[in-house]
Amino acid sequence: MKREKSEALFEKAKKYFPGGVNSPVRAFRSVGGTPLFIQKGKGSHIWDADGNEFIDYCGSWGPLILGHANVKVVDAIKKTVENGSSFGAPTALENDLAELILNNNKYIQKIRFVSSGTEAVMSAIRLARGYTKRNKILKFEGCYHGHSDSLLVKAGSGLVTFGNTSSAGVPESFVNETIVVALNNEEAVKQAFAEFKDQIACVIIEPIPANNGLLLQRKEYLQFLRDICTENHTLLIFDEVINGFRIGFDGAAGYYKIQPDIITYGKIIGGGLPVGMYGASAEIMSNISPEGDVYQAGTLSGNPVAMAAGIAQLTECLKPKFYEELERKTQLLIDLIFKNFKFQISNFKIYSIGSIFWIAFTDKEVVRSAEEIDADSMKYFRVLHKELLERGIYLGPSGYEVGFVCEAHTEEDLMKTAKAFAEALEIAMK
Ligand SMILES: *Cc1c(COP(=O)(O)O)cnc(C)c1O
Repeated sequence: MKREKSEALFEKAKKYFPGGVNSPVRAFRSVGGTPLFIQKGKGSHIWDADGNEFIDYCGSWGPLILGHANVKVVDAIKKTVENGSSFGAPTALENDLAELILNNNKYIQKIRFVSSGTEAVMSAIRLARGYTKRNKILKFEGCYHGHSDSLLVKAGSGLVTFGNTSSAGVPESFVNETIVVALNNEEAVKQAFAEFKDQIACVIIEPIPANNGLLLQRKEYLQFLRDICTENHTLLIFDEVINGFRIGFDGAAGYYKIQPDIITYGKIIGGGLPVGMYGASAEIMSNISPEGDVYQAGTLSGNPVAMAAGIAQLTECLKPKFYEELERKTQLLIDLIFKNFKFQISNFKIYSIGSIFWIAFTDKEVVRSAEEIDADSMKYFRVLHKELLERGIYLGPSGYEVGFVCEAHTEEDLMKTAKAFAEALEIAMK
């Protein structure tokens, strides 16, 4: 595989950007080698600067549920941008996207559009604090909620701890407002509520944790969180930035039939353009400025071009059997991989839900918390990733990241992928 052009572009990029990138995981540090500079994408395929072609399972980390350069999305963007790209004033497109979402999701009544998942979560936390008049928040080790200060916090050593910052530049005083506990541990949550009685504004969780492996939670556990939050007048936030519109139109709330107090979205909602959103009951949302006293604003919020892309993409997602078909293809891919790989190995797993899948080198049947992931097993993923690239298969460059099947993947793509997996796995597991 030729890499000269990507290598030259990366050398140049290193002069301009820290580590040569504008978001850290893109630097390929956890798999080694040079990041590929992508030139174009169409459907399920991408091409890099050297002209190598790949079947893509990263999908820009989730947003591209229809695949790359979907004709309907591209047309909507073109048509809209012809009439101006931003006004800083309301447009009908915001109403249209809101209507599309709210008519098909009974778990939220009012929403606010923002420009990223990070911004959605940051605003949701502020709303929870403003609404409850409390400061502390509780999060889980193994869930990612973007890069705002109070969430760049990882667990310490005890059952219930104030976190340690996971980034320089986050003040100690911020960290002291964030309680971090392990996933799938009811005792830890109970203890936190006992220790910080009437102080916890919200519990925030990825109901389908998919940023640190795929750590599927038990419904009973999510229901337990709902109940303990209700008892303590604490808001429950579902961060559905990654799984929202991915496993169905009403997301994890609908999947588990649990009503959270605030839900955050991003990724798929913008059709590949920068959009985030948070939503809640009309009563909770009435606390947002200019109706209420929780300030939150954005120069490009509700951007018309981004709204148009979102409308075009979500309209496709609403078609009958859209999600069933994605899930069927994902199961087919997994089945094909195991069929092609004839060696019996107990420590290779693919966990999945809907069209999200995660490759793990473990002998555990289920993995529900971050501490159950063996960091040492990533050595297998590094080899697998490299060998798959050589065979024209592109996975996100980290073993902690999930993959996505999109509408554009064909059965031929899946068969080719499974064959490449069989060869690559044999090398990786040697
Ligand atoms: C991607 C993600 C975010 C952050 O979104 P950005 O658009 O990258 O800021 C937050 N929460 C979850 C669950 C995510 O998957």
